[in-house]
Amino acid sequence: MEKQKSRGRRLLLVPCPFQGHINPMFQLGTILHSKGFSIAIAHTLFNFPNPSDHPDFDFLPIADGISKEESTEDFITFILSLNVNCRIPFQESLCGMIENQDLLDEIPCIIYDSLMYFAGDVAHHLKLPNIILQTCCVTNLVLYKIYPRLQEEGYLPVKDFTFLPMYNEQVSSQDVVELIKGFNINCKAPLQELLAPRASKDSISLDLVPGFHPLRFRDLPIFNYKNSDALLQVLADFCSLIRYPSAIIWNTIEFLEHSSLEKYQQRHQIPFFTLGPLNKFAPASSSSLLEEDISCISWLDKQRPNSVLYVSLGSLASMDKKQLNEMAWGLANSKQPFLWVIRPGSVSGSEWIELLPDGFVEVVCERGCIVKWAPQKVVLAHDAVGGFWSHCGWNSTVESISEGVPMICWPYFLDQRVHARYLSHVWRLGIAYENELESGEVKETVRRLMVSEEGQEMRQRAMEFKEKVELCIKPGGCSYNSLNELAKYISTLKK
Ligand code: UDP
Repeated sequence: MEKQKSRGRRLLLVPCPFQGHINPMFQLGTILHSKGFSIAIAHTLFNFPNPSDHPDFDFLPIADGISKEESTEDFITFILSLNVNCRIPFQESLCGMIENQDLLDEIPCIIYDSLMYFAGDVAHHLKLPNIILQTCCVTNLVLYKIYPRLQEEGYLPVKDFTFLPMYNEQVSSQDVVELIKGFNINCKAPLQELLAPRASKDSISLDLVPGFHPLRFRDLPIFNYKNSDALLQVLADFCSLIRYPSAIIWNTIEFLEHSSLEKYQQRHQIPFFTLGPLNKFAPASSSSLLEEDISCISWLDKQRPNSVLYVSLGSLASMDKKQLNEMAWGLANSKQPFLWVIRPGSVSGSEWIELLPDGFVEVVCERGCIVKWAPQKVVLAHDAVGGFWSHCGWNSTVESISEGVPMICWPYFLDQRVHARYLSHVWRLGIAYENELESGEVKETVRRLMVSEEGQEMRQRAMEFKEKVELCIKPGGCSYNSLNELAKYISTLKK
């Protein structure tokens, strides 16, 4: 890592290596660089953006020791592995930097994604100033704090699982007859459990979470999460380390989450900086891991204002063949123009769009545009886009709100359910789609958003939110002020 000459204080940023986490961290880096700080990115070898796209930043690779098997683990188990594997290499790199004083005028300040909590732990150990970047919404974190209580009271883990393990490791014979015998013995009890009348706390999915109106148990990130133990472990690790940071930066907007911010601040007596939406402060990013297909912008240029539905499920969500089929015919029959991002590998069993139903492309002709990855911020800001079918990742949520685009909320997992519920029931900027995908319902929902009076009102409300966001980032606005306070704060930290 080379020294950046004649710049201000050195900041070492530690992004979590997933698109929805890389983007806000790089946006923050770009903003702080424009404020005169020198920026270095400590990155894993797994999933990192091309350094040549960021000539202003230095890059410090961290050996993550991630094996091929680990890279396909579920998201939360992967985060646990990263935190175990990266701790020592990161500590060694930092110690090297500190010892190598001719490369540094001062010790760095670490800014790390909250999921990379090993970085906070190491910084604390080495007595380095460190700040968390929260790339999720505040409400989500306030919620996590109630999990221990819900667990104690027997509400968690919620048992409305769709996956019920029906066999165990005792059934491992190579002999098919033995296997079937084993299954029959082992499956009896779980099946009885499944069929038995459910205890009240096992069927609470639609009940409201006490004190968290309008969230229902089914909106909790832990609900139906196949690896809830790993999730609780991450939360326990994370909550035990969160006392370490010098400050917290939020990628949220004050007026969106005012009461959750207040609740969180009452509990944690450290400085907070609410800088959202980071995407509006930073120029269109080049931190995409996949190549953006900009041809969709010239396609959008040919469409009428507010007529296009943008469909994208972010960087992690996937679909099966049946869901793809229902979605395709729903979009086709809605008669609305659409721009659909189908990420390579996101449809199980196919490389890209091979499993689209026969005849679909011919039916939609010019009315549809399908790409592998879109320049999303530019798409959402385009006049032709009037709605967003989204998995409700936090970045997509904030980006859509800041461009005044109402949404159809189809969350995939974890905190996306919380965002979806807030979009549909608190901010009233989105329609919740909660059933299995079915082409008739897809069509109706798309038409509800794009051409009904209800959708028009939602679009109007979304435009009002957009105006409020613009006020926040203008001189004198709360995010603008918070950013200046952060720059001052960092400059005063121990050197
Ligand atoms: N994104 C993009 N092009 C696409 C789809 C997504 O640039 O075709 C970006 C989007 O703008 C957002 C990020 O990828 O910044 C996805 O983050 P989000 O939190 O919405 O979802 P995740 O991928 O983490 O599930």
